[in-house]
Amino acid sequence: MFALADCNNFYASCERVFNPALRNRPVVVLSNNDGCVIARSQEAKQLGIRMGVPAFQIEKLLTDHQVAIFSSNYALYGDLSVRVMNTLASFAPSIEVYSIDEAFLDVSGIREEELEPLARRIRQTVLKNTGIPVGIGIAPTKTLAKLANRMAKKTREAVFILRKEEDIRKVLSETSVSDIWGIGNQHARFLNQHGMVSALDLTAAPDEWIRKNMTVVGLRTKKELEGTPCISLEEMVPDKKAICTSRSFGVPQKELQQLEEAVATFTVRCAEKLRQQHSAATKIMVFIHTNAFRADQPQYARNRVITLSPPTNNSIALVKAAVAGLRAIFRKGYLYKKAGVIVTDFVPETEIQQEIFAVQASPRMKKLMESVDKLNRENKTTVKIATQGSGRDWKLRQERLSPGYSTRWGEIMAEGNCEIRAYSYSI
Ligand SMILES: [Mg+2]
Repeated sequence: MFALADCNNFYASCERVFNPALRNRPVVVLSNNDGCVIARSQEAKQLGIRMGVPAFQIEKLLTDHQVAIFSSNYALYGDLSVRVMNTLASFAPSIEVYSIDEAFLDVSGIREEELEPLARRIRQTVLKNTGIPVGIGIAPTKTLAKLANRMAKKTREAVFILRKEEDIRKVLSETSVSDIWGIGNQHARFLNQHGMVSALDLTAAPDEWIRKNMTVVGLRTKKELEGTPCISLEEMVPDKKAICTSRSFGVPQKELQQLEEAVATFTVRCAEKLRQQHSAATKIMVFIHTNAFRADQPQYARNRVITLSPPTNNSIALVKAAVAGLRAIFRKGYLYKKAGVIVTDFVPETEIQQEIFAVQASPRMKKLMESVDKLNRENKTTVKIATQGSGRDWKLRQERLSPGYSTRWGEIMAEGNCEIRAYSYSI
């Protein structure tokens, strides 16, 4: 049996944890540069605010209903996510963190009558430890657990066990094929064209037909809907094959120095991620481009790939390469909207060859990077490379950013934060 725990309206719920004045008030969170709505509280959904709508299009609605608006605060969401996942992990022998706000738990071996009390206990404990409400669906396969979770969201207890055959049939008949986990828009349209509307219709189709038209992946989904587990729990997240850090600028940039600061900062972030997974990169690509939507402005877009020899995860070496790449492609006279850095072609850190003059592979350099990572974990930018500058000019527009309640000591006592004592740490 699998349990799927999914946080309700995760980003909006995170904003509420430390700000009780937001309870029962509509809350929305905006994407980078405060562009579009990417999370909505239940109240905001009821106002008819759609996912992805640009904030400026619904300005009147937002003011009329006193909707609380936030810039995305990924430091806060990431930290609360870790706490939610740690709490969930204490309830099951293995857990797969599926996304920032969702995890599958292995609950096989639990007696049938124990499943519902367990789900309630998980929900209560996560709420108590983190302040985040979760919905829990339990079923014999991951695909059915996803459906059970959808059902859970519609109940007051936010818990749903999908186990008995007649219950499964009923839920399948009420679920449209487009709402099945793993069925994309294209396959959903294809199934509709062949008269299959509900998930139950899909299970009625012959195996061979599914395999022929939707490959073995489709067949696996069918089996899962029938209660035969085909997708197992993936406990280990495979290491990334490429790491990208890029941003659109709040205000377009035209000077090389500002772009250098931005590119250096993105590179340092890539380097941190590389060190986290103990990889070193063989290639780094830097790119810049103007705003393609501004037909009235001259357009320019270039990238440059630099081979790193030896492969490295050292911030200083990577920044040097990235800035050299940037200088080679930079042209004056354009308004740059976006820049980014991608590192690829990884080798394990332990395999970096010790070349005689390879300063960045030296044990002392490794130690320096470890110390920098440690300091920066505690407070995001304690130590920077000089090229990163202040970031004042190119930074994201984040006019409505909430405090880093759970990651920055200096921001804990922020205004409106009067319930800090109710917060319990789970370690
Ligand atoms: Mg969610």
